[in-house]
Amino acid sequence: MNSKLAAEETDFPVSDQGVSANARRARWEELMAKYKGKIDVGAGKTFLADHYDAFAKRPEAPSERTLCGHVDLSPRGLKPWQEEFGPAGTVQSKIADAAMARRMELEASMGHACGIGFDAAAHLKKNPRYAWQKPLLRDLPSRPWTLFAAGR
Ligand SMILES: [Zn+2]
Repeated sequence: MNSKLAAEETDFPVSDQGVSANARRARWEELMAKYKGKIDVGAGKTFLADHYDAFAKRPEAPSERTLCGHVDLSPRGLKPWQEEFGPAGTVQSKIADAAMARRMELEASMGHACGIGFDAAAHLKKNPRYAWQKPLLRDLPSRPWTLFAAGR
């Protein structure tokens, strides 16, 4: 957030709104303003599954620029970390409200919160440049939200 500090300490392009972190921050700020005072666990789950591209102003455009991160679907990738269609993105989500936190609880989901699973074989077929990852790349099916609580 501090552009002076970022300029002094990093090479992060703070003014490039097309960069994943900047586009996602813009979307979070939109949602926080729109839902101020009305945010609960259900709304949070919706936010974590959000596919609105705040840079391109496009709904249902899952990519590296959406809250539910889908680098694997992005023709831009997430450079310099991931090239185009790099197998990366959201792998899990967690949420809790204040009452849940008091009870040492949270809900979590494995895979994308939106329900889209990652199929490693299909991805490698479409993107053979990542064939070298085949021995390690695994499917990541989307799993339902599950409540976790500390033992009593
Ligand atoms: Zn998604």
